[in-house]
Amino acid sequence: MFEISVQQTFSAGHALREYKGKCENVHGHNYRVEVTVAGEALNRIGLLVDFTDLKREMKAIIDRLDHQFVNDLEPFTKLNPSAENIARYFYDELQGSLRANEVPVAVTQVRLWETDGQSATFRP
Ligand SMILES: [Zn+2]
Repeated sequence: MFEISVQQTFSAGHALREYKGKCENVHGHNYRVEVTVAGEALNRIGLLVDFTDLKREMKAIIDRLDHQFVNDLEPFTKLNPSAENIARYFYDELQGSLRANEVPVAVTQVRLWETDGQSATFRP
């Protein structure tokens, strides 16, 4: 089994609904997201996934979130924009985007940091 991971960053605001504490108020994070992709075989030149392809797919999602108030964006108009749910969102949005990859691969983990010391991980 081979795995590759890519990390990217973005900045966004959110407010946690029904949270009893200061995270109920509007505030922002400099988020870091790491996507891990795994597969059994490599292509002819020894790659699982071209890092450039994965970065492009992640960037397309980040462009929707970066410098936005996440609560205003679907599906977070109803779904609470917690680190857990945003990690799951990256997973859901990336599903299918790697179908055209030369060798079969799957997203196996998305980790989202709100701060250096706190992160949430989604695995299917
Ligand atoms: Zn927060």
